[in-house]
Amino acid sequence: MITPADERLLRRAIEIAAHAVTLGDAPYGSLLAGPDGTVLAEAHNTVRRDDDITAHPELKLARWAARELDPDTAADTTMYTSCEPCGMCAGAIVRSGLGRVVHALSTAQLIALNPGSGARPTVRQDGPALFDAARAPIEAYYRA
Ligand SMILES: [Zn+2]
Repeated sequence: MITPADERLLRRAIEIAAHAVTLGDAPYGSLLAGPDGTVLAEAHNTVRRDDDITAHPELKLARWAARELDPDTAADTTMYTSCEPCGMCAGAIVRSGLGRVVHALSTAQLIALNPGSGARPTVRQDGPALFDAARAPIEAYYRA
């Protein structure tokens, strides 16, 4: 359920996205907020500026949360983001320990507005292979 307090913070994420455009960056913005609505960090998409395909605001904030927040604080922290996180960012958000994500546009809505946003090539993956060789460093690390 999205509350009026959520909508206030979501509007801030959309403002960040709009501001990104004025800086020449792509229109995506996100923030992290504590349970009382205090904004802890903000970020926008800098893929073009940084020439970095991973410079999505959600990923930057997930990395920040994992570095800067203890697990209990992270679990009580919500990410507000102008668009639904992509697969790369969703994975990082799970690993960061953040407790909740609230997004404005869904991926389907974004693709309807900009069909190019849905152009995700697939990558061929072959495996598993070489189990006996590949398990050695894993076992050595986790048995220590
Ligand atoms: Zn992303």
